[in-house]
Amino acid sequence: RQVEAEVVAFSVPSYACQRRTTLENHNTVLTDALSLLAENAELSDEDGRGVAFRRAAAVLRSLPGPVTDMKQLRGLPCLGEHSLRVIKDILEDGASSEVESTKQSERFKSLKVLTGIFGVGSRTADRWIREGIHTLQQLRDSGQSLNRAQQAGLEHYDDLNRPLTVAEAEAIGEIVERAVVSVLPGAQITLTGGFRRGKLTGHDVDFLITHPDEGREEGLMSKVVSWLESQGFLLYQKTTRNSYLESKDGPARPPANMDRFERCFSIFKLIKEERQGTEQPENGERNPNPAEDTLSVGARSGSQTDQNTPPQSQIPADEQRRRVSGEDGGQEETKPAVHKPWRAVRVDLVVSPISQFAFALLGWTGSKLFERELRRWAGHEKAMSLSSHALYDNTQSRYLRATSEEEIFAHLGLEFIPPSERNA
Ligand code: ATP
Ligand code: MN
Ligand code: MN
Repeated sequence: RQVEAEVVAFSVPSYACQRRTTLENHNTVLTDALSLLAENAELSDEDGRGVAFRRAAAVLRSLPGPVTDMKQLRGLPCLGEHSLRVIKDILEDGASSEVESTKQSERFKSLKVLTGIFGVGSRTADRWIREGIHTLQQLRDSGQSLNRAQQAGLEHYDDLNRPLTVAEAEAIGEIVERAVVSVLPGAQITLTGGFRRGKLTGHDVDFLITHPDEGREEGLMSKVVSWLESQGFLLYQKTTRNSYLESKDGPARPPANMDRFERCFSIFKLIKEERQGTEQPENGERNPNPAEDTLSVGARSGSQTDQNTPPQSQIPADEQRRRVSGEDGGQEETKPAVHKPWRAVRVDLVVSPISQFAFALLGWTGSKLFERELRRWAGHEKAMSLSSHALYDNTQSRYLRATSEEEIFAHLGLEFIPPSERNA
């Protein structure tokens, strides 16, 4: 590869929604660095800078191979002076001092820890830091009043900051499906968000719910939530009513990137299931080893051998019970930690009327940058306004209907990009 020939520059279109961005990323070192700077800007309420770094990272993410020479970047869109400097430092020195010092900075670390609490944004975290609160323990000891979301977020902090797997997303999907068909037969649920884009992990699971007969979906969310609550699946929920109609003459319009569907931000209690054995101690603390935990869905059959651990069924029942309940007479070193048999999972539910379903699906599939770029493309290049509800053509002064994502891309004059290639 050390050919003394002209370096060939990469070439990509300027809007992320014109590009196919799969999960395969040949420039993770560079995109991680730029994403960290984006995150730092967002946490510091500098959204403009945040978006600039996000766009730069997205361009590198879409490249067909690794960047090894600055000359390859000539003519690429969205790479500002600042991003180019960071890239250059990493290519030349292996690291960017700005990125490294940001990563080490106490302020950044505290902001990350505190905004890692569900329900805590950068403003709140910043206020706490100014009051001397930098850690979860300091927050707990501070007597700060927390709202319901923040209380739940603090209580389930570790679970909610541990990435979810596809198997866990599927298990949640089965529960949501059961809830939805129980309260409204014929209603349909669709996985959206990162898992629809083929991501293998996620910070939450997102679902869109609709019914093929327009209007039948009205009031659906509260019924779904009641069902879930009655079955003990919810640790927290906040349901927001549909404000689409009300807001027409109502007070403040929500920000452009927020939609007005009936939605529920929730925390589910997902019961884990053991891979091994059928005997369960009656004290509820079932599985001492989280590595053996698996989920009620999809992993029932097949070889479940773990070379290091004997199957639980081979351990005498008494011993099983002692291991899990800790009646071990204080041999702390040899006793496996007792883990709860469930985990907390963030779940977002959205209900859409069928007439808006395609827009809602497109809007809730992401990525966030892809969505932002779609709206920017619509506005700047096509004089159209795109939301999760509709597409309005300002030139023709009318709404453009669509029953599929493909139709929306066509209205926008864009090549169709499937979900797995929207990972900008
Ligand atoms: P992750 O794995 O981190 O969950 P994700 O891509 O699924 O990744 P989410 O934050 O769950 O990220 O968002 C999924 C989609 O829902 C995104 O396209 C985002 O634009 C959209 N979305 C999230 N919150 C809102 C909101 N309040 N209003 C409208 N759309 C939203
Ligand atoms: Mn998500
Ligand atoms: Mn979400």
